[in-house]
Amino acid sequence: MLQGGSWFFSMAILIIPTCLANDLWQCICDGPGCTQDTCRGRKCFVTIENADGFTKQTKGCFSEHLMEQCKSTVQGTATTKCCDADMCNGNLTIHQAEPDPPAKKQLQLILIPLLVILLLLLLVTVYFCRARWHHRKRLLTRLHELGDTDMLKASIVGDSTLGDLLDDYCTTGSGSGLPFLVQRTVARQITLVECVGKGRYGEVWRGIWQGENVAVKIFSSRDEQSWFRETEIYNTVLLRHENILGFIASDMTSRNSSTQLWLITHYHESGSLYEYLQRTTVDPEGCLWLALSIICGLVHLHVEIFGTQGKPAIAHRDLKSRNILVKKNKQCCIADLGLAVMHSQTSDYLDIGNNPRVGTKRYMAPEVLDETIRTDSFESYKQTDVWAFGLVLWEIARRTVINGMVEEYKPPFFDVVPSDPSFEDMKKVVCTDQQRPRIPNNWHSDTIVSALAKIMKECWYQSPSARLTALRIKKTLHKLNSPVNNFKEEC
Ligand code: ADP
Ligand code: MG
Repeated sequence: MLQGGSWFFSMAILIIPTCLANDLWQCICDGPGCTQDTCRGRKCFVTIENADGFTKQTKGCFSEHLMEQCKSTVQGTATTKCCDADMCNGNLTIHQAEPDPPAKKQLQLILIPLLVILLLLLLVTVYFCRARWHHRKRLLTRLHELGDTDMLKASIVGDSTLGDLLDDYCTTGSGSGLPFLVQRTVARQITLVECVGKGRYGEVWRGIWQGENVAVKIFSSRDEQSWFRETEIYNTVLLRHENILGFIASDMTSRNSSTQLWLITHYHESGSLYEYLQRTTVDPEGCLWLALSIICGLVHLHVEIFGTQGKPAIAHRDLKSRNILVKKNKQCCIADLGLAVMHSQTSDYLDIGNNPRVGTKRYMAPEVLDETIRTDSFESYKQTDVWAFGLVLWEIARRTVINGMVEEYKPPFFDVVPSDPSFEDMKKVVCTDQQRPRIPNNWHSDTIVSALAKIMKECWYQSPSARLTALRIKKTLHKLNSPVNNFKEEC
């Protein structure tokens, strides 16, 4: 009995799935493979297919081996839905995902690249801000290394005059200038009054410090290397000389998230020699006086002085009438040491700095223009200064009244190059054609100016080593100088 029951049960298990397996549904059939309106299959289906912008709907039935298609309903551009009941695909509908409207698509096309660009901009800004911050920090550290910051308090500035301060610090100690903190304090007590000049790389202002005029050169950020170089030279080298622009202080401040670089020097109301010569003429003695003061400044730069109060040799590399200032006593002083190079014989060390700026094209010597200059030799730089000095001398001589005659102010090579000459313009004139500024005949009718003309020619030799040295020029000019002028021999 028990055996009979279990046989029935086993048979039921075997038969029921077989019956189910054979159970086929009648479905609506309207596809290309349909021979009738209906078909029989294990599943009824509806398929929607998008092709060439049209939607095609097909109904039919899947046999056993096609049933799998009901599982993955989306295949390429077709969507399938299945059901299990007779004629169930009659009302079966498929809700297609709405295609993106064109406007939405266009918006996406614009928005995505825009977001990417914004993100990139943000990254670049962050990168530059970080770089600037690091750069400022580095400059500050370098500046701190130059001055002994811990010993001094701002209060020492007190009621001193500039003269007191400079005397105190420059005749004692290393003698190279005011300590860093004092410089900063002075700088921050200055009131800017008027802009007196605009150069290639910044502005010069007349400022007032405790009732005294000072000149404030505000460097543009693209010329920060000149500011650093000048600050470095003035702070490490004893440069107090009647014919070198007197340095007072250097300061770096942050204003409106940008860095402001200031160089504070003595103020000379006559302005640059370039401006002075436009409005003034001189007599031959006055011409010699100006020339002598410039060469005295240049010799002081060029010579190395040994001992505790010594200084390395310095070449200027951008000597021109705009970088020479005229003082009240009609002597000149040399300004703008932003491009200067230093050399010490004892340590045979040549410090070229790392300023990307180059000198003024109009004043460039032939070896600079044809790029044959020996950049590893300090002598080469001094020789380029002598070339430029010759041109400045020519500018002064033109404004010298000789027998009642004088020429209007013109810059060197005014007649052969345009107002802002290119490197190539200058190279053609100075190297290829080997032209030199014209020396008018009437210059030879005056002993002083005629001697100056001879000196000029000897500053302009093509071969740098053939040129006079600054020291030689100074000696020659001293001999020319009449006792009336009484220019100190030791200048
Ligand atoms: P550049 O780039 O032409 O050499 P600078 O920036 O050195 O110009 O100076 C611009 C102008 O500012 C000068 O030509 C001069 O007129 C004026 N200047 C510069 N320094 C002083 C100063 N210490 N005292 C008075 N004027 C000055
Ligand atoms: Mg200058």
